[in-house]
This record gives sequence, structure tokens and C-alpha cells, in this order.
Amino acid sequence: MASTGQKTAKYIFVTGGVTSSLGKGIIASSLAKLLQSRGLSVTIQKFDPYINVDPGTLNPYEHGECYVTDDGAETDLDLGHYERFLNVRTSQANNVTTGRIYYDVIMRERRGDFLGKTVQVIPHITDEIKKRMLLLGETGEYDIVITEIGGCVGDIESLPFIEAVRQIKFELGENDTLIIHLTLIPYLASAGELKTKPTQHSVRMLQEAGVQPDILVCRTEHPLPPDIRRKVALFCNVQVNSVIEAMDAETIYDVPVLMRKERLDQRALYMLDIYNDQDVELDAWQAFVSKLKNPTESVRIGLVGKYVELHDAYKSIVESFIHAGAENECKVNIEWIHSESLTPENAVDKLAELDGVLVAPGFGERGIEGKIAAIRYVRENGIPFFGICLGMQMAVIEYARNVLGLEGAHSYEMDQSTPHPVIHLMQDQKDVTNKGGTMRLGAYACKVKKDTLAHKIYGRTNISERHRHRYEFNNQYLKTFEEGGMLATGINPQNNLVEMVEIPAHPYFIGVQFHPELKSTVMNPHPLFVQFVKSVLKYSLQKRAVMH
Ligand code: GLN
Repeated sequence: MASTGQKTAKYIFVTGGVTSSLGKGIIASSLAKLLQSRGLSVTIQKFDPYINVDPGTLNPYEHGECYVTDDGAETDLDLGHYERFLNVRTSQANNVTTGRIYYDVIMRERRGDFLGKTVQVIPHITDEIKKRMLLLGETGEYDIVITEIGGCVGDIESLPFIEAVRQIKFELGENDTLIIHLTLIPYLASAGELKTKPTQHSVRMLQEAGVQPDILVCRTEHPLPPDIRRKVALFCNVQVNSVIEAMDAETIYDVPVLMRKERLDQRALYMLDIYNDQDVELDAWQAFVSKLKNPTESVRIGLVGKYVELHDAYKSIVESFIHAGAENECKVNIEWIHSESLTPENAVDKLAELDGVLVAPGFGERGIEGKIAAIRYVRENGIPFFGICLGMQMAVIEYARNVLGLEGAHSYEMDQSTPHPVIHLMQDQKDVTNKGGTMRLGAYACKVKKDTLAHKIYGRTNISERHRHRYEFNNQYLKTFEEGGMLATGINPQNNLVEMVEIPAHPYFIGVQFHPELKSTVMNPHPLFVQFVKSVLKYSLQKRAVMH
């Protein structure tokens, strides 16, 4: 199949069974990466069974990070994996929830689109699901669209999605659709055996819904011997070379290589009747993995946030550090620091050993003073600092209070009666009452001032970064800050919002209102993370030199 011009897409569906958290997103991304490296154009979308219209209103403890796309969609964190693996952009169309489907169907019902008809799960909800599943494939941009179905087969709430998959397979036929089921083959230590029964049951559950998987990807802690593969094949009604072993990997970035060894891509192409004799080109990817696994140095970076118990709440930041670490051939060890545990008194004990500190994004009052205490400590002690979104806002507040003498300075988000609202509600947010999808979201342009740290990092003046916030730097204070030594070095050219601040007198101190972590990929590590790790390493080497 040609990879240019108008394309007719083929569809791969990825379902999961036995248990959640088997890594459907990583398997889907790895397969997509292999197909992409054969010259095919691939995208991935995720269908989530929950009722929220999007994950934007979810507490990060519930569902991990909310990932934001260029077009301002608040989406599932798996979309981050898709972008990081494929180095292509996703959009609103790539993440659909049950809530979104029902919302649209109900709005149409109210408009009268179904006048006279009873609106039902089948066919109205399933038709809407099918329409959205096929949408990206109809743009003519893709050879293959991979759809990941969230949740587990057998969940009541995922039934309409599975039914939609069944109908699409029936309507488009064998050669245009492929169903991959991700399952678990547990190892029972007491019996010393790999057990296939849970997989058999979960495939049976799919079959009861009328769906026969074509390929089984089996998560396992031990290699699958031929007899186990044959047994799974026989009882699950798939060919033996469609039983793919997915061993636990050292890093998620190993998975494309492991899937290539298991020939998942070849199997998928064969079953989709796609002729492709192009070699898989993974050289750059493998070079990255090799750098990742063979660092020559290591540093310790404190990540100060209020959701640190759940590392998935900061997924993109963690992955950005992995990309930037590999680029610097330096292992980045993240020290998770709960902002609520920090006080001005204990900051020295908690932070003195670190080589750098990142203060994370977030919402609301909890842990705020801890973030400010951390920033004061690193600012006064010349430790490299990187603040993202709320982290930048807290850096502004800390500077206002402790350097500029603006007593009681705060963000209007936390204190509506502060005498110095150095962070204020954006003008266009003042009349917003709904919570869902109403923040400043998605990509905005930013102009980087010349002869600044920001310009050194980006190497250019025009950039675009993604946003997710309601509050902003209050420009009424801009002059006071600039005269006092904190400069605004990145500005939105349309509305003059301050997007980046830095302190030139400090060895490395930068805060950004946007979320650079959302744009770091394996092939394009984000320059803000690359430079931060570089300066953290420099600081660490200097510190070590002084100590010896
Ligand atoms: N709570 C802050 C705001 O809404 C920061 C948001 C964030 O860190 N993503 O402006």
C-alpha cells in the first residue's frame, strides 16, 4: 500500500482481558511504531468507557495525568504515549468517552434529529461509536487506524464498544479489520507453571459478544514455551503464530523491539492483507534505548507536587526526563517530594542533597506553601530550578514576597483577598462557570526574547506550546518584577500574557506557564528538559568537585 495520496484505512482494534493495567496503550503504540517504521502512516485513538465527557474534570488520583493536545482536547494519558512513540500529533478525535457519545446523541435527540423514534443503545449509541471509530480513517491521511478500547472485556460499560467493533468487523470484512486481544498468562510459583485459563476465559467472553480475536498478545513474566502457545491457540481459536509473547520489559521503550522479535507487525500486515516488504527501520529508536540504558552520569532531581503518591499523575514529566536523560547520557533519578511535607524549616534537609528541583503543575490550595518554601531554598542556594504552570506561578509569588517585598502576595486562585494578586484570573475566564473544557487549553504561540536563557534553550524566537490553566501572571506587576530581577522572557504575541519567567542572576532558574512535557517525544526530546538536565548535571559535577 502506498503511504502518500488518498488512502483507504484499515482498522486494528486492541481490547484487553483478565485485568486492567496490562499496558494496552504501550502495545498499541509499539505496534504503531513498527508499522510507521515500515513507511505506513498510522494513528491511534482511545475509546474510554466512563461517563465523564472527557478526563479533564477527573482528579489525577483517579486516572493519572490529563494529557492535552494541540487542539485543546483534555484526554487520557495514553495519548501521551501515542505521541511520544510515533512523534505525530493527536487531536480531539483521538479520544472518545461514553460520556461524549451519550452527550452528542442526547443533544441530537433534543434538537429533534430522531423525532418519533425511540433512542436506544442499539442502534443509536453503537452507531455513534462506529461513526467516531471510522472518522480518522475517512480523512484519507492514514493507512492504519489503531483503536484502543479502554477497560476490560466483560465490563458492563464496555459492551457497546465491543458491539461496535463486532459490527465494524462484520461490515468491513476480514481484510480491513483486525482484532488484537491483550491478555495475561500468570505464573503460579507454587505449581511452577504458566496458566492459560484466565486467557481462555477472557477470549470466551469476547466470543460470547460475537467477537473472535485474530491475535493474542500475552503478557507474561516468563517466556512462553511452544506447548503453551499451542494450547492457547487451540483453545482460543487463533493460529499459533498469532499468539504473541509480551514479556515484562525493563523499560516501555523496549517494547517495540520485543514486538518486532515476536513479529507482531508482520502478523498484523499479513492478516490485513497489506503487502509491505520494507524493512523496519528502528536505528534511531535503538540508539535512544541504548543511551537510556548506558548512562555515564546520574543526577537527583526533586519533583515537588501534591499528587506524588501516584506517579502517573506526572506521567509526561517523568517521560520527558527519560528522553532528556538519554540525550545527556545521564540517568535522572526522580526524588518524589510531597509539597505538603515541606516547610521553610525542613527545606534544607529535604533539598540540600538534590542537584535540581522541578515544581509541578497543579490546582488548589493544598501544599502551596511547601512549593513556595522549596522555591525559596533553591533560589537562594543557586540550585537549578524548573517550574511548570502552577510551579511557575509559585515562583512568581515567592519572588514577590521574599525579594520584591510585596507582603501577602498570592495567586487569586488561593486567596481572593490578597493585597498583591501577582497571579490573577485571566480576563476571558472571569465569566466562566462550567468546569469541563473551559480552561485556556491547547497550543498558543509564544515569542521568546533574544539574549535570554529561554532563547538559548530554544534557539529561536517563535515557539508554540500547550496550555491548561485559568490564571496568569498579572501584568500590572510586570515592571516591578523586571526592575527587581525576574524577567518575563516569553510573551504571547496576541494578548501579552507572560509565558516564561527567569532570573538572570541565578545559575538556572526558569518557569513556564505552559506544559512543555506534553511535547517531548523519543525522537524530539523537549529542549527545556534537555537543558534543565544539562544544567543539573553541570551543577552536580561542580558540587562533587568541591566536595572532593
Ligand atoms: N491552577 C493553576 C491555574 O489554573 C495552574 C494550572 C496548572 O498547573 N496546570 O492557572
